[in-house]
Amino acid sequence: MSESLNILFENIDIYSPSDNFHERRNLWIKGDTIQACTSAPVKAEKATKRIDARSLAAMPGLFDMHVHLREPGQEYKETIQTGTDSAKNGGFTGVCCMPNTIPAIDNAPTVEYIINRGKTTLTEVHVCASITKGREGKELAPMLELKQHGAVMFSDDGACVMNAEVMNRAFKYLKPVDGLISQHCEEHTLTEGFAMHDGEVSAILGLKGYPSIAEEIIVARDIMLAAHNGNCRYHVSHLSTAGSIDLVRQAKLRGQRVTCEVTPHHFTLTDEAVRHYDTNAKMNPPLRTKQDIEAIITAVKDGTVDAIATDHAPHAVHEKELEFAQAANGITGLETSFGLSMTHLVHAGHIGMMRLVELMSTMPREILGLQQVSCVEGALANLTIADLHEEWTFSAAKSLSKSKNTPFGGFVLRGKPKFAINRGQIWECDL
Ligand SMILES: [Zn+2]
Repeated sequence: MSESLNILFENIDIYSPSDNFHERRNLWIKGDTIQACTSAPVKAEKATKRIDARSLAAMPGLFDMHVHLREPGQEYKETIQTGTDSAKNGGFTGVCCMPNTIPAIDNAPTVEYIINRGKTTLTEVHVCASITKGREGKELAPMLELKQHGAVMFSDDGACVMNAEVMNRAFKYLKPVDGLISQHCEEHTLTEGFAMHDGEVSAILGLKGYPSIAEEIIVARDIMLAAHNGNCRYHVSHLSTAGSIDLVRQAKLRGQRVTCEVTPHHFTLTDEAVRHYDTNAKMNPPLRTKQDIEAIITAVKDGTVDAIATDHAPHAVHEKELEFAQAANGITGLETSFGLSMTHLVHAGHIGMMRLVELMSTMPREILGLQQVSCVEGALANLTIADLHEEWTFSAAKSLSKSKNTPFGGFVLRGKPKFAINRGQIWECDL
């Protein structure tokens, strides 16, 4: 593979926040390396494939720090292979997978198994291991050992560590190595049996609601625990409410090392999407209100939000085609993330491209302590190539994920991933 890749993108618009430049250049990739990146003419070889790239943009490869690859244990929903196929088709060259597998990622062999399975895929796979054994919230997992084996973050995602004493000990335990703890913030006693956001729409539909405060209570508690243990690092997963945004913003102002991610569905859809009982509008945390979206977008603009992550959560048809209250939570997201973010953040005029690249590429890597991707001559070629203006209609049928549970089928988006390049491999996105 690496021998064959030899491609020159002529006059491509390059956005690279970590190299601090935005410029049109000629970008020559040979094998796994950027052979040239210059505004001067490039003397490529005869064998080099030349692409007139005036309508394209290049950026450090997109990274999704919150995905569910379902392997081991639920391969009928997704595998590491199909999940990374879906990722590269969405333009992502790196992902971090969550530990709610069967068994949970709470032991070194499982961490190693996943890392090994992701060694040859175009999209790199990093591992978020669990905070507690079996994600039961009781006894700490051997996090130091799991970190030595390559885990880059810890979370019981899907479940919240409810016991404050356990969470306190988790912060203490990881402090000597400055490990990163993330939380799926949900006070489960307030959300039991929920089907959607607790508000006007849930009252009309007669569905059990998940109140915003159930998320915010945990965000507040954990920020306090992180401070109590000496400014530990703490990352809020898929934050969904205006109140949570405010808590993170205040913590940052106090100098706390708190970061957070938001999903494209939480800044594009509201609980109105549930009105017709479409189970593809059912997720955890649930779709919230217009005011929450406004708060999230303000926070994306002012730097309170650090990253965009999809919470890609594939489910089989039989788990979604049920009565709304019984259907599984979660939607797929890897192939719509770039288009939705371009449409609703960049083309809507809220942020510029450099900021988008930060949110979708450089910041996730920085939070996870991974090496930054560089777009200069001699660097390893880890890139996403996109058409920033192309209008296209998303079709779930084209998704390479094993599952098709998306509410975005038929959505018209502006901005489309075209190629993913990494590890000497190139993938032409087909969406
Ligand atoms: Zn979660």
